Amino acid sequence: TVPGVTDVRIAMTAERKAMRIIAVASGKGGVGKSTLSANLAVALKRMGFSVGLVDADIYGPSQARLMNSEDRKPEARDKRLIPLDSPLGIPMLSMAHLVDPGKALAWRGPMAGNALSQLIDAEWGSAEVLIVDMPPGTGDIQLSMVQKHKPAGAVIVSTPQDLALIDARRAVSLFEQTQVPLIGLVENMAGYSCPHCGGISDPFGAGGAEAAAAQLGMDFLGRIPLAIDIRVRSDAGDPPAAGEGAAGQAFHAVAQKVAD
Ligand code: ADP
Repeated sequence: TVPGVTDVRIAMTAERKAMRIIAVASGKGGVGKSTLSANLAVALKRMGFSVGLVDADIYGPSQARLMNSEDRKPEARDKRLIPLDSPLGIPMLSMAHLVDPGKALAWRGPMAGNALSQLIDAEWGSAEVLIVDMPPGTGDIQLSMVQKHKPAGAVIVSTPQDLALIDARRAVSLFEQTQVPLIGLVENMAGYSCPHCGGISDPFGAGGAEAAAAQLGMDFLGRIPLAIDIRVRSDAGDPPAAGEGAAGQAFHAVAQKVAD
C-alpha cells in the first residue's frame, strides 16, 4: 500500500527522534571548533556510528575544505536538502554549499537561522548522530538553533588562553540556560610539539581548560596538541582522525569520551 501523509509524518518524526544532535560550540572563532567537529565526526564513524555533519558556521564555513567536498552543490527533494557524501563516507551539508560565504556575512539573524534550519532538517536518513559545527559566539542564531533543534548535548572547545576561556564560559551558560546537557570541554592547541627539537612547550599556558571545566562542573574531554600535522592535514581535506598518527589518537580519545 501507498503510505499516507500521516504515515510519512510519523516516519519522519521517528527519524528525527532517532538522530541525536551534538552541538560543537565555542565562545569565539579560531579556536579549532571546525577542526574538532570534522575529526569528531570521522572518529565516531570509525567507532561504528552512523554520523552526519553540519557546518553551521555562517561567518567562516570550512567543513567543505576540511572534508574535501568543495565546489559541490546539494540537491533537494520535496523542499528538503539531500546531504552530500564526502569522500570519507560522512554525509554533510555546509552553509558554504548554500551561499557565497562573502554574502552570508551580511545576513541578519533570521535569515541565517532559517538557512541553518534547512541544513539540520535535511534528509539525514539513518544518521544516529549529527555533529553541528556551530557559529562562534552566543547570539541570536545560536540561541534559536538550540531552542528549535534541541541538541542532545554540547561539546565546548577552548584554547588554553584565559580570554578564550572567558568566552567559553559564555557558551557554557547559553547551553545551561536552554537545558542542553553539556557533554564536556575540549582544550585545543594545548602544548606545542616542536618538530625540530622534539621538546614540548605551552605557548598559551597549560591546564587552564581542565581547571575551568572543573570549576564549571563539566567533564574534561581531553587536550588536542597544537601540531603542524593537524593544520596541514586539515588544509588538505584529510582529517587526522582518519589516520593513525598521534594527533588522530588525541581526537579518538575525545570521541570515545563523547560516545560514553
Ligand atoms: P574555528 O572553527 O574555531 O574558527 P578552525 O577549526 O577553523 O577554528 O581552526 C582555525 C585554524 O587553526 C585552522 O587553520 C586550523 O587548521 C588550525 N588548527 C586548529 N586546531 C589546530 C591544532 N590543534 N593544531 C594546529 N592547527 C590547528
